[in-house]
Amino acid sequence: MDLGNNFNMPDNETNKEIRLNGVGASPGICIGKAYLVDKEGVEVVEKYFIDRKNLDGETKRFKAAVKNAVNELRSIIENVPDEVRRHTGILETHVALLKDKMLYDKTIETIKNERVNAEWALKKVVDDIKVMFQNISDSYLKERSDDITHVSDRIMKFLIGSEDVNIGEIDKRVILVAKDLSPADASQIQLDKIMGFITDRGGKTSHTSIIARTLEVPAVLGVGNATKTINNDDTIIIDGTTGVVIIHPSGQTLAEYKKLKTRHEEHKAYLSRGSHLKAETLDGLSLQVMGNIELPEEVVSVLDHGGDGIGLYRTEFQYLTRSDFPGEDELFDKYKDVVEVMAPRPVTIRTLDINGDKAISSSNGSDEANPALGLRAIRYCLKRPDIFRTQLRAILRAAAFGNVRILVPMISSLDEIRDTKKLLNEAADSLKKERKAYNKNIEFGIMIEVPSAVIMADVMAQEADFFSIGTNDLIQYTLAIDRGNREVAHLYHPFHPAILRMIKHVTDVGKEKGIKVFMCGEMAGDPFNVPILLGLGIDELSMNPQSIPAVKNMIRSLKVEDTRRFTKEALKQTTTMDVIKLVEASFGEMFGK
Ligand code: PEP
Ligand code: MG
Repeated sequence: MDLGNNFNMPDNETNKEIRLNGVGASPGICIGKAYLVDKEGVEVVEKYFIDRKNLDGETKRFKAAVKNAVNELRSIIENVPDEVRRHTGILETHVALLKDKMLYDKTIETIKNERVNAEWALKKVVDDIKVMFQNISDSYLKERSDDITHVSDRIMKFLIGSEDVNIGEIDKRVILVAKDLSPADASQIQLDKIMGFITDRGGKTSHTSIIARTLEVPAVLGVGNATKTINNDDTIIIDGTTGVVIIHPSGQTLAEYKKLKTRHEEHKAYLSRGSHLKAETLDGLSLQVMGNIELPEEVVSVLDHGGDGIGLYRTEFQYLTRSDFPGEDELFDKYKDVVEVMAPRPVTIRTLDINGDKAISSSNGSDEANPALGLRAIRYCLKRPDIFRTQLRAILRAAAFGNVRILVPMISSLDEIRDTKKLLNEAADSLKKERKAYNKNIEFGIMIEVPSAVIMADVMAQEADFFSIGTNDLIQYTLAIDRGNREVAHLYHPFHPAILRMIKHVTDVGKEKGIKVFMCGEMAGDPFNVPILLGLGIDELSMNPQSIPAVKNMIRSLKVEDTRRFTKEALKQTTTMDVIKLVEASFGEMFGK
C-alpha cells in the first residue's frame, strides 16, 4: 500500500511520541493522518415539563424523530457497500430496536406519565436499560448495550436537530478518530479513504469491531482518551493486533512500523492463499478447522476464510435485543439459513447461554450477586422449559435441512444432560405428532467449561456424542478469575499448568471412551497454542473466522509426532511462564520469535 511521502518524516521535532493503549479490535497496521469526527452522541440533555395539553404534541415529536431515524437507517442499508452487505443484519436489528417496546413504548409512557420533554424521557429510559445490561457478566452480551446507545443517539439527533458528519463523504485518505462509531457509521466506511479507526469507547465483541474485522481495516477501540489526545492531522500509527496507538511517532518508530506493516501484509496474503487448503499436518493428520459465529450473517466470513463448518453458533444474540422471547418459527428461519448455507458441513448450534433473568427484561427474575455462578446457560433453560422447548424444536426442525450438531453449555452434572435429553425427546415427539419435518438423529455434545465436568468427563462421556472444551469459562472457573475483570487479566492464561492438565484429562477420556474432543474457546484461535493442542490430541478447533487461515497454516507446518513429544515436556512444567518459554524455544521460529 502506498503511504505517500507524508509519512517518511515524523511530525515536527517538538512533538513528543505518545503511546495509547486500547483493545486491538481488528488486526493490521496503518500509518496516516488523523481525522476527528464528532460522533460523541448527546451527553447533555435538559429536562423541562410539558403542559398537559401539549403532551400529545410532544409524543408526536418523539414519533417523528423515530420515523426520521428509521428512514435514515433504511437509506444507509440500501447504500451499504458490498463488502459489508452481509452485516446489514446488524443494521436491521437497529431498525427493530428503534421500535422496540423497551425503548419506544417506554419513552412515550414516560413523556405522558412524568410530563417531561421527549429528550429527557428518552435519556431516562436508555439509562435504565443500560443499568440492566451492565449487570450482565458475559462481555459479548454486555456490549450489546452499545447498540442501544447508537440507536438512541440517532433519535436524539433528530430531536435536538444536531448536525452529523457523514463518514461516507470523507474525501481524504485518513485514520478516523471518534468517541464512538456505530455499526451504521462503520458500514459507511469507504475502503479507499479510511485506512483504519480509533474510538474512545467500545470493545472487542462490539458490532463495530465485527464490521472492522469484516472490512479488514485495522481498528483500536476503547482507548478512553483518544479524542482528547489526538488532534486533526496528527500523524498516527494504529496497531490493531496489539491495540497500540502511537501519536507523533519518531523517525525510528515510523521505520519500525513500516517494516512491521509490510511483514503483516505479506504474511496475510500468504495465509489467505492457503486458507482453502486442508489443515493436514506434515505427517498426514487432518483436522477440521471451524468458525465461531454469533450472527447468522457471519457464515459468509467462515466460508471466505476457509472454515470447514461452524464449531460454535452462539444463539444468545437473538434473545437479547428485544423485550420478548423469539418464537419458534423465527428461530427456525435463522438456524435453517445457516444450516443450508453451510450444508453439508456441520453446524454446531449451542443452546441458549444466557445469564439468567437479567439479560432478558421479560424474564422477571431477581438480581444475582454472582451472575457467573448463577442462573446461567443450561441452568436457566432447565428452569424455563417453555423457552428451552421452543429453541429445541427450532433446532430439530432446522436439522432436517443439513448437518446439525447440538451443544449444551455450562454442564456441571449428569442430571443436566439427562434432563436436557428428556426435553429434546419430548420436543421431537411433539414435532412428530404435528407432522412437522425434523431430524432427531443429530450429534449431542456438551461444553466442557466447568471443572466438575472435567473431573466427571468419564461419566459425561457415556451420555454425550462429543465434548467441546470452552476454555474461556474453563479458565475463569478453574483459576477463579473473572474473565471480564481487567485487574486480574494478567493471571488469565490458557497455559496455566492446571488448564493443560485438565485438557489432557479430557482428551485422554475422549480416547478411552471413543468420543471426539473439540475446542471452541479463544485458546483454539491462536496459532501459538496449536502445537500444544495438537499434542494434547484435540480433534477439531473452532475460532473467530479471521483466525482460521493462520491456524490452518500452523497445522500444516507441524508434525503431530513432534507435537506429542513436545507436549509431554510441556505437561511437566510447573508455571505458565515455563510453558510459554518452552513453546518459544521449540517453535519460536514459526512465530518470528
Ligand atoms: C467458552 O467459554 O470458552 C466458550 C466458547 O463460550 P463463551 O465464550 O460463549 O462463554
Ligand atoms: Mg462459555
